[in-house]
Amino acid sequence: MMAVPEQTVPEQICGPAVPREGARRPLSVRDVQITGGLLARWQRTNREASIPLGLRQMERSGAVPNLRLAAGEAEGEFKGYRFQDSDLYKQLEAVAWEHARQPAPEYEEFVAESAALLARAQRPDGYLNSHYQVVKPDKIYAELEYSHEMYCAGHLFQAAVAGARAGTDGRLLDVARRFADHLVEVFLTGGDDGVDGHAEVETALVELYRLTGHRPYLELAGKLVDNRGKGLIKDSGMGMLYAQDHLPVREAGTAVGHAVRQLYLEAGVVDLYLETGDESLLECSVRRWEDLVATKTSITGGHGSRHDGEAFGERYELPPDRAYNESCAAIASIHWNWRLLLATGHGRYADLIERTLYNAFAASTSADGVRFFYVNPLQRRSDLVEDAYLGRRREWFACACCPPNIMRLVSSLGHYLATAEPDGLAVHQYAEGRIVSGDVALRVETDYPWDGRIAVTVERAPGTEWALRLRVPAWSASSSLTPGDDGYAVIRRAWKPGDTVELELDMTPRLVRAHRRVDALRGCAAVERGPLVYCFEQADQEAAVDDLALVPGAPLRVTPVDDLPGVGRTVLIQTDALAVTEPEGGLPYRTHHVATTTGVTATAIPYHQWDNRDGGPMRVWIPLS
Ligand SMILES: [Zn+2]
Repeated sequence: MMAVPEQTVPEQICGPAVPREGARRPLSVRDVQITGGLLARWQRTNREASIPLGLRQMERSGAVPNLRLAAGEAEGEFKGYRFQDSDLYKQLEAVAWEHARQPAPEYEEFVAESAALLARAQRPDGYLNSHYQVVKPDKIYAELEYSHEMYCAGHLFQAAVAGARAGTDGRLLDVARRFADHLVEVFLTGGDDGVDGHAEVETALVELYRLTGHRPYLELAGKLVDNRGKGLIKDSGMGMLYAQDHLPVREAGTAVGHAVRQLYLEAGVVDLYLETGDESLLECSVRRWEDLVATKTSITGGHGSRHDGEAFGERYELPPDRAYNESCAAIASIHWNWRLLLATGHGRYADLIERTLYNAFAASTSADGVRFFYVNPLQRRSDLVEDAYLGRRREWFACACCPPNIMRLVSSLGHYLATAEPDGLAVHQYAEGRIVSGDVALRVETDYPWDGRIAVTVERAPGTEWALRLRVPAWSASSSLTPGDDGYAVIRRAWKPGDTVELELDMTPRLVRAHRRVDALRGCAAVERGPLVYCFEQADQEAAVDDLALVPGAPLRVTPVDDLPGVGRTVLIQTDALAVTEPEGGLPYRTHHVATTTGVTATAIPYHQWDNRDGGPMRVWIPLS
């Protein structure tokens, strides 16, 4: 390949998604320490339980043995799916961010061993995909509509970028760059117009460009985005909408098809805007965001209404029982919203990150960190007729895209809490901890999300005037600080060490109803408190969950519990409700309904804590009496 002058590389901030320039600067995961509360607990469980489980699974699931086959160092059958390599890449990324937070020799060892194996498995021309090298060497790049070759490459690039920023073994970056250079040779300078059926490599190529300054990576990402929607992807049998190949990216007005594909694509689209300034990319992505939020988003922030194709449905098609809400879609949504927040500074994106983080995303992992949901519905009946990926959380999956994806987000959570602004610092998410940005250091004291009081104390300040921005979530009916139109309260002064500002949010529980066009939820209500969506689990009820009816106007009583067995610390919400039973038998359609009504206490638990007990029925949405 012709030598291309590398652009100067800015000093690397240790975190995912760091634009080369821009008004808002992300902070290093080392500079945002979460020391207490719910998020700290998640990070502790991730480190002590989830990541060790993930590392064991790399061997068992076939991810690592497959690469030994590709390297010619072992004999046997390829195990798993054609995208099995991506599990290892996401695991490597999780370990890199974890290493940045708290270095550990076993992490360095895992990365070094993996990088060495990948280097041995990689073809001399840079190509690397164990499935195609071992099983279908004659089909390389020949079935991009479902091959996931570039999807896997993208996860390799993200792992390598994470390793480079976190300071683990540099050989992983060498492997990644050789593969990226190969993609550039084939699909950019080589003139092949192929596009991967599963978007992901776009956002990853932009990150690799940010790290290396090598412009062809950015140009290839741009070409892949420009080429989507031109019918260049063959129909994999799932239709053109499935891979977002039905319309050019700048023309598509609504999210369609496979939810994770759409959402990773959006992250790449906004990444490209952040590096190129191409306004048409930001415009189309914001247009789809507004439509998505208004018509295709679960109350938990989850995305994907259809099991068929793990896909978005039509507008207002939001069934609670059949909601798919893949854990990976929640993660991809957080990635996208983070980039939109960096691009615009608008708090609505941080609001959606919060909703998704504490609900759709958090529910994906059990309290002990060793079982995971792939699908996150808003209702479970007692039948559990569908086994695969439904019902209860499980330790691992044949298609294990979600667990290591969850781990990489939890280990990098600090990155999403705050940004450096041109005139100060903005705090987007609240957790007990310490935030350092240049010559500013803040201490955040809070029991969020259980409590709505947040105290921010300045520990270090430059002595000149600067602005502290604190997000006031849209769910808070009132607050001690008044936000501007962008959702942030701005306090500008010459801060001195010891200065404290307090934000008090309205934690009164709320009864929430859906837009009347959401047919599946008409006549129902859900309970929220602070950023948490609640659900009603059978384990806490006096009557059958499916018979409960909420009474509008009935007080919602807040009941903190220090240690609920199986769950841990929680805040329950109780209310006087009704149990309504109808006779069963015959068709469930009647002209005259005969019902028996009994007064009961209904008890709700935060949705993210469900399924940590007996596996009984659960509902987020309850009919109103
Ligand atoms: Zn997944």
